[in-house]
Amino acid sequence: MGRRDVNGKGFSTRCVHAGRTDEQPINPHIVPIYQTVNFEYDDFDHKVRVSEEEEPGYLYTRYGNPTIDALNAAVAALEGGEAAFSYASGMAAISAAVLALVQPGEHILASSIIYGGTYGLFTNHLNAFGIDVSFADVWDFDSVESAFKENTRILYIEPLMNPTLQVADLPRLAGMAEKRDVSVVVDNTFTPPYLFCPLAHGAALSLHSTTKFIGGHGDAVGGIVVGAREIMERMVKVGRVYGGVMSPFNAWLTLRGLRTLSIRLKQACANASAVAQYLEDHPKVNRVCYPGLDSHPQHGLAGHLLGDYGAMVAFDVKGGGLDTARTISDAFRVITSTVSLGEVDTVAAHPASSSHRTMSTEYRQKYGITDGLIRLSIGIEDAEDLIADLDQALANV
Ligand code: PLP
Repeated sequence: MGRRDVNGKGFSTRCVHAGRTDEQPINPHIVPIYQTVNFEYDDFDHKVRVSEEEEPGYLYTRYGNPTIDALNAAVAALEGGEAAFSYASGMAAISAAVLALVQPGEHILASSIIYGGTYGLFTNHLNAFGIDVSFADVWDFDSVESAFKENTRILYIEPLMNPTLQVADLPRLAGMAEKRDVSVVVDNTFTPPYLFCPLAHGAALSLHSTTKFIGGHGDAVGGIVVGAREIMERMVKVGRVYGGVMSPFNAWLTLRGLRTLSIRLKQACANASAVAQYLEDHPKVNRVCYPGLDSHPQHGLAGHLLGDYGAMVAFDVKGGGLDTARTISDAFRVITSTVSLGEVDTVAAHPASSSHRTMSTEYRQKYGITDGLIRLSIGIEDAEDLIADLDQALANV
């Protein structure tokens, strides 16, 4: 490096190269955004050594990039995994996990309650790859036991199920899977580290939509998968070959968000607990889904497994349906009615018309994803303002 010399060259050449500096030892305090596709080398042979992985270095951002690697290292450390790889979205991470672990002719056993996008991938798209998927109620261990097949490769679960917030007993499920040499893949989006680390409880892979709590500010779509080095080599290969990798800018935003994860979650969980208690005491409310409530069927399990009870709360109103959900959503003045979650501000989603639209009405009804269900992702505002907003919104129904 240091061989570039454009002094006295034509205007166009100088336009292209002006301001380009050879790297200096400037030691930035914060990881910079390496917004570059390529990297440069001392000479031809250096490039060959890097591309053959005989020497450390970067080649091309789809293969690796220092900003993205900083995020990978941070999340791997927080999840207690040996390695991580970042993808363009949570769905890209989930697809990559499937492509890395399952071959045509093999089977995935998935929790019957999961994010609707994942349910849609499993039910409508994996058949094109010759991959068979079936679902089990993972709180009913006998039905899980009988749903395993000879060719099952993955047991796929969410520790806090989207959107009804049942708690999956990962240690027990992982024990059942291990006996059959099945890998447990956990979507940890709702319970990021601080709340839960699936690898310590028998999961082979823990993955996130970093779009949500990990990034935390609603400004960058992304996904990440964490696991032991050996399995992550397969994840990296799928990322590089299929190409759905995160951009350096999104990695930088996500890393910046990650630095306040514990303080954000601490405040959001405290707020969620106050909101859930308020809703449970409200005479118009029919059902509150929040594992921190004594009335939650797995309150004890949640207390045992999770560091806190999370920032997600779902509820519906007595006798309410789509119309009630619409009225409440439109009445919010502090809470934003939208589709995502895990942000610093409180957002309300309507799963039946958004995240869980891929499920049939009958399927949603069976699993309590009613037309009236509103899913709150609680933010870090003052709890009394959130409660006041809910109070005035509920006065309309
Ligand atoms: N997993 C869960 C639990 C989700 O809620 C979502 C999106 O809402 C995803 C995965 C997909 O993430 P992304 O939108 O980043 O692809």
